[in-house]
Amino acid sequence: MYSITILGSTGSIGESTLDVIAQHSDQYSIFALTGCRQLEKLAQQSIQYNAKYAVVTDESSAKRLTSLIMDLKGTTEVMFGSDALSEVASSNQVDIVMAAIVGAAGLLPTLSAVKAGKKVLLANKESLVMAGSIFMGAVKQHSATLLPIDSEHNAIFQCLPDNYNDGDQPSVKKLILSASGGPFRTWDMQKISKATPEQACAHPNWSMGNKISVDSASMMNKGLECIEAKWLFDTTMDKIEVLIHPQSIVHSLVQYVDGSVLAQLGNPDMRTPIAHGLAWPQRLASGVADLDLSEIAQLTFEQPDLVKFPCLQLAYNAAAEGGNAPAVLNAANEIAVDAFLDGRIGFTAIAQAVEKTLDSFDFYEPESLDAVQDSDNRARSVAVSVIKRIES
Ligand code: NAD
Ligand code: MG
Repeated sequence: MYSITILGSTGSIGESTLDVIAQHSDQYSIFALTGCRQLEKLAQQSIQYNAKYAVVTDESSAKRLTSLIMDLKGTTEVMFGSDALSEVASSNQVDIVMAAIVGAAGLLPTLSAVKAGKKVLLANKESLVMAGSIFMGAVKQHSATLLPIDSEHNAIFQCLPDNYNDGDQPSVKKLILSASGGPFRTWDMQKISKATPEQACAHPNWSMGNKISVDSASMMNKGLECIEAKWLFDTTMDKIEVLIHPQSIVHSLVQYVDGSVLAQLGNPDMRTPIAHGLAWPQRLASGVADLDLSEIAQLTFEQPDLVKFPCLQLAYNAAAEGGNAPAVLNAANEIAVDAFLDGRIGFTAIAQAVEKTLDSFDFYEPESLDAVQDSDNRARSVAVSVIKRIES
């Protein structure tokens, strides 16, 4: 029986993880669940999965959650704050941690799980984008098992040679990340500039949280994923390519030096990579429908359009810059996406705000977590003032 903490259980990845666990309750039990705003859902999950602990961000949410759980006659103990998040991620009663908090808020608790040497299922790509070098250093130092949940990275992980980390890197020529192109792939720039949050969140293939949905629409998501891949697979940006594949069936590909290309295919449902991560190196039924290629009939591919989707180019630039540039990119993007979702700026202003924020920074190598947090904080305040100027 494996004991699991899900950081961000009330989100899209969190719910899919609970769905897979519910299918295998003889093998997996819940130690702790965490959430932010959806307290009713967190209370209900805590009861249904008999969680030992539920963690929220602040004291007033904790009081409300405690009373909701008591009303439901549950026994889950409620905690709050960032120390509590780190505690349930690193407890010696936990075997597996699903890191599914969205954004920079996921960094510290995920790193706590890594430092405790856990098996960490990584959905929170932002933590690697912000602090890749420190994060991967901690994975090595503490012998954590890091398994990618992002569908593209999970696909690549499945297609790499077994001894990739022990000297077989030269056999791999390219990592090819597929991208659906998002809801605006076929729109012209004029139409994209008027896109609403509802349209940006209506992804054609995947059902996801709002932030990553907007990132997919701007293609910032793919840029973040290239940086994520660089760290996860210890490679360089020139070996990473993006390929638009609107059907989201081929989840990514690995090109070998001999001309072989291995790909992982499946229906677009995050329960597949989640089940893969939970059971690895074994396999587990996920509840995902069988792939019917004759029904899908056509798989198509095209090049990404960097003019229509400038966020992808901005991410490439930040990756090439290195140091704290990806952390600045990520923080500015989080602020800009929030402003877009709030209706304060238009869709195209997301890229403008990120670009202006990056332009105002001198980059350096953040040697410590404090330096990363400092870059993140400063980028957020610059982005806020850039956005104020765009608004007025
Ligand atoms: P979501 O918005 O649906 O859920 C986010 C979760 O994080 C919620 O449980 C929320 O309570 C929690 N959270 C938000 N802000 C928080 C804060 N400040 N402190 C503590 N907890 C907080 O997001 P999602 O779509 O499930 O994505 C989660 C992560 O997984 C993201 O990093 C995303 O990029 C990545 N990811 C998601 C998908 C997907 O299909 N949804 C695919 C690949 C990767
Ligand atoms: Mg992805």
